[in-house]
Amino acid sequence: VSDLDPDLLARLPRPAERNVTLRLARGAEGHVRRGHPWVFDRAIEHQSHEGAAGDLAVLFDHKRALLALGLYDPTSPIRVRVLQRKKPVPIDEAFFARALDAAIEQRAPLLGTDTDGYRVVHGENDGLPGLVVDRYADTLVVKLYSLAWFPRLRDVLPPLHARLAPRHVVLRQSRAVQLLTADLYGLEEGQALTQGPLTTPVVFKEEGLRFEADPVRGQKTGFFLDQRENRALVERKAQGRRVLNAFAYSGGFSLYAARGGAVEVVSLDSSGPALAHAARNFELNQDDSRVAACKHELLCEDAFAAFERLAAEGRRFDLVIIDPPAFAKRQEEVGRALASYGRLVRLGLGVLKVGGELVMASCSSRVSVEDLREVTLQQAKAARRALRIELETAHALDHPIGFSEGAYLKCLFASA
Ligand code: SAH
Repeated sequence: VSDLDPDLLARLPRPAERNVTLRLARGAEGHVRRGHPWVFDRAIEHQSHEGAAGDLAVLFDHKRALLALGLYDPTSPIRVRVLQRKKPVPIDEAFFARALDAAIEQRAPLLGTDTDGYRVVHGENDGLPGLVVDRYADTLVVKLYSLAWFPRLRDVLPPLHARLAPRHVVLRQSRAVQLLTADLYGLEEGQALTQGPLTTPVVFKEEGLRFEADPVRGQKTGFFLDQRENRALVERKAQGRRVLNAFAYSGGFSLYAARGGAVEVVSLDSSGPALAHAARNFELNQDDSRVAACKHELLCEDAFAAFERLAAEGRRFDLVIIDPPAFAKRQEEVGRALASYGRLVRLGLGVLKVGGELVMASCSSRVSVEDLREVTLQQAKAARRALRIELETAHALDHPIGFSEGAYLKCLFASA
């Protein structure tokens, strides 16, 4: 365990003494009352004064009753992130400690699964909108999606540190926040909040498999922790199979397939460093005889082009996994995203043996499971494949869904 860096904590800004009081347009009140954690700038009808990021926002309804307390952020269109409804309570270290206790308690079942890489706090879904905490063995990654969290870190970090006793705490920021913080508090992306040099990358375990993650430079916070349960399902289908894992990143699905007894796994990604990472992850698990016996092939290529080439070459697989990056971050992009998912299903079926299995994932929060199901069935029909959806999965217990936008991950398991 290393202590939090006291100089750094001392440099953090403090919230103003004066709260920002706000009244919302009538339509927006119900939204908050029903539990939505975001208040957009356009929903604000009146406010006391312009506050600074991280000041306490106090929302009143039209009858002057307290609606909610939240964190104010003048730099974001999500102007207030709601922490507490109706009942006034101090937003202090004890408040955050209670939220952390609830989140940690919810993840307790994971500790029995030989897993020390998981999401400890999943933002709005754990009542802490804009704050993500991931654990990779003895390293914690705190990722901030709003500037409002900086003045609150003083109250969040000590209880977090006390409960999880990490060796390192790494600070990550969303792109929007990074652009604002560089000169604000002298805090850099990927910087340690604990004393002593950071040892990175770190090796952690997921369901007994070893993975390396780079919490400082890796995508997201270093690993796609949200796919753990889908990977475990793939493991159970992999015995004796030839597997194609498209958008493989560091080979999460590939390793599970190998441990499940796949004879061959192809990891396909357009990023060379991601595939080098996947190769290292295979190295880390050579003590498992099934992983050691599995032939692992790396394919560094655009997935769309690779599917067509493989199909033309007559290569076929028993199991095809497609887990692309989010195609639709905004509502306007949904149509195009669905077309891309459809194309991928079509291409995936082109290299899938008859009677094989297709695993199709989407992490676009704007694409519903119904949409994904429909494009999948449509493409199968167009390709004259008798596709049957056998399972639709959603979120694991460390990625709870607390509001509609929280349901971003969906995954179909189909035979075709
Ligand atoms: N399935 C992974 C996570 C995928 S993240 C896991 O379980 O960990 C998305 C990946 O898609 C990234 O590694 C990125 O490099 C890759 N990628 C993005 N566009 C691509 C493309 N057109 N072709 C191939 N790979 C692509």
